[in-house]
Amino acid sequence: MPARNHSASRLLVLTLLASGPSALAAASPASSPAGVAGTVTGAAPTPSPPGTRAPGAPTPGAVVQGEMAPLRVKPDSLGPVLDRPLLSLQPSSAKPGDPVVVTVRGAAGLPTGTLGGRPLRFFAWREGHLALTSLPVELPPGTQVVDVMAPGKGLPVALSGALEVLAPGYRERELRVASKYVSPPKAVKARMEADRKAFAAAFAQPFREPLFGQNFAWPRQDVVTAPFGDRRSFNGKLQSQHFGVDLDGDPGAPVVAANDGTVVMARDNYASGNTVLVHHGAGLFTAYFHLSRIDVKDGAQVKQGDGLGLVGSTGRVTGPHLHWGVKADDRWVDGQTLLKLDFFGAQETPGVAVSSPELANP
Ligand SMILES: [Zn+2]
Repeated sequence: MPARNHSASRLLVLTLLASGPSALAAASPASSPAGVAGTVTGAAPTPSPPGTRAPGAPTPGAVVQGEMAPLRVKPDSLGPVLDRPLLSLQPSSAKPGDPVVVTVRGAAGLPTGTLGGRPLRFFAWREGHLALTSLPVELPPGTQVVDVMAPGKGLPVALSGALEVLAPGYRERELRVASKYVSPPKAVKARMEADRKAFAAAFAQPFREPLFGQNFAWPRQDVVTAPFGDRRSFNGKLQSQHFGVDLDGDPGAPVVAANDGTVVMARDNYASGNTVLVHHGAGLFTAYFHLSRIDVKDGAQVKQGDGLGLVGSTGRVTGPHLHWGVKADDRWVDGQTLLKLDFFGAQETPGVAVSSPELANP
């Protein structure tokens, strides 16, 4: 039975820690307001291992800028500058493998910061600033610290918050597939390597602002036959984890774009079969695997709800279904959490799906 999600608009406004100018000066003597808010060009982001602080950011709230080139901010698009900018996180409590949205409102310019030591990439968004990141799937339960430095009315303001990470409860599954997918023939290895390179090229998109004008929606309305995170063994051998959400579907049923974006892959791959990848900006991609037919071309601009192809059973499958993958900040994440994220204030997230654990398609 369809159940609409009402938690979309829930935001946890975090307690905020505003350091005075003297504390800030002690933590970061080289920083002046202009220095913190100023643009730093150059190197690509350097991801840090989870739970560690980024190099050059030894103090909570210290600036990690300089490791990434921030997007240009249009000052006239920002809301009012607050004495104490507001920091909020979605989801309010998370599990490993979740996407996370960090929002700052009331800053005078582009904030910088980290979540669990991983640098956040803020961009101007509506009346504030937003960064989209993700939690590693192997992260143990506990608290992840968010440290942000936000340009304020005078000196920059240090904000901090905590994200509670709960145990995910991922299932263990035994699946049977054709043996060529567990022990690929030698001739197939070159093809799989070419697939790997094609995925890497498709994901190597320059960082840009979001291309979407609404929250994410299901790529088809059907039963979830396998959630994100299942730990699987194929034919009692290959161990892997399920980095997507499987949706049931008859062969030939339509598959649509979960949101606006650009097609960056339309390709027949060995394991994922006929595959479409859509880039949504903000470091966010959605993936559609095992299609019987692809209806879009590489480079096509798509809108939410546009047809991408048809449900099929190409690649490593036990039967026809749609494998829907989501990548955020360079990690596969749970699409069901993405659907709950509200990028647009109080708007409700569209889409419906029902979990049905007794069915099991990879
Ligand atoms: Zn799947």
